[in-house]
Amino acid sequence: MTVHFSFTNGVDNVTKTNSYEYSSGKFLGKKDDDTALYWAAHSLSVSPGSADGFKQRARSDTVVTTSSTNLGWSHISFLPSAVGGDKFTLNAEVTNVGETNVLAKATSGEMTVWRKVSFKRIYEMPNKLHVRDNASELYIRPYFTDTVETYVEYELGTEITKIPSVKYVGLWTNDVSVGYQQDWSAIYAKRAYARVYTNRYGVYVGSPVNTEIPTQQELTDAEGTIEPDRTNARAAIAKKAQAWVERIDDEYRVSQRNWISDNGMTNAIASIQYHHPKYSECGESSTSEWPSWVVVATYRGRYQNVNPNSDWTLGSFFGGLQHTGTGLVSIPTGLAEGSIRRYIAHEAGHATRDFFNRQVFGSDLDHSENPGLMDRSSSQPHFNEREQKILRGMKVIP
Ligand SMILES: [Zn+2]
Repeated sequence: MTVHFSFTNGVDNVTKTNSYEYSSGKFLGKKDDDTALYWAAHSLSVSPGSADGFKQRARSDTVVTTSSTNLGWSHISFLPSAVGGDKFTLNAEVTNVGETNVLAKATSGEMTVWRKVSFKRIYEMPNKLHVRDNASELYIRPYFTDTVETYVEYELGTEITKIPSVKYVGLWTNDVSVGYQQDWSAIYAKRAYARVYTNRYGVYVGSPVNTEIPTQQELTDAEGTIEPDRTNARAAIAKKAQAWVERIDDEYRVSQRNWISDNGMTNAIASIQYHHPKYSECGESSTSEWPSWVVVATYRGRYQNVNPNSDWTLGSFFGGLQHTGTGLVSIPTGLAEGSIRRYIAHEAGHATRDFFNRQVFGSDLDHSENPGLMDRSSSQPHFNEREQKILRGMKVIP
């Protein structure tokens, strides 16, 4: 016998054009899309297909083999939209062999599409216990579900895996003999280059630099009153300072990436001490390598007009980081409990992109421009309405 399947789109389901285009011509939403396929044959049943080629309707024969526990069952795969909150009701009709009479029919309950961000476990440095409770489903799930409609499920495995203790994961080296930690003073010491480097960010983007070390003449001219020597010397020193920042930032990125791969961490939350001397509220942000008037761009151009001797975040130290492409989030120590939970929710918000397709919250490293949980400083205790739509998979006009 043959079972005929059809479905009903929920009245508020998101149309193709109102949903996120996750790759060219491909959308998360299916409503009002005449070309969308909603059905696929299932390996356990023979399917005679459908007149519309598995778009709105499908047919599937009941299993006839006598040994099968599926005897008399009809299997089919339903392919709903990928927009959170979309609702579907499925209908099935059984006909006789000639398909002339409906012998029985049934309708499912209404089913809702949910999307999921799923961290498998917690990685924990010794004595860094600030994540294990604060990241729990009890505390973080409400950010995605209480009073808001993101249709995102937050999931956290209960396993806790120990990782080596290191003060700064951004200075990580896989060398136990030095305590897995590179020497910060050796990193920030200025140096000459074997090859010319071209600045990538800031006011002096594109400027070639062959050493970070200012000449004595430059230092003298920069503090003098003779022009244009003073202006030229200050520019030369600022270019070197920018190159110095970019080298340290690059080394930070490499170390952090190595820390993740050396410890095999994916789809997890890591409980750490600090990220980096220049980006963490660790009391070690100060260096004194540059004249006080020098300003630079830090963190791949994210922060502008920064004093290179100071912290490189303009005071907004990293409360957490999401490591794109790994499903990993790292949370530093030293924050108040409420802040930790909010930052975990914020980073989990970023990490959703590693688990499902969605629009970015904004052009500034996936941050919202307007106040929300996903603005730079996680200023609101909930995802704002725009952020909720993005999490669901809708298209939002910037
Ligand atoms: Zn962020």
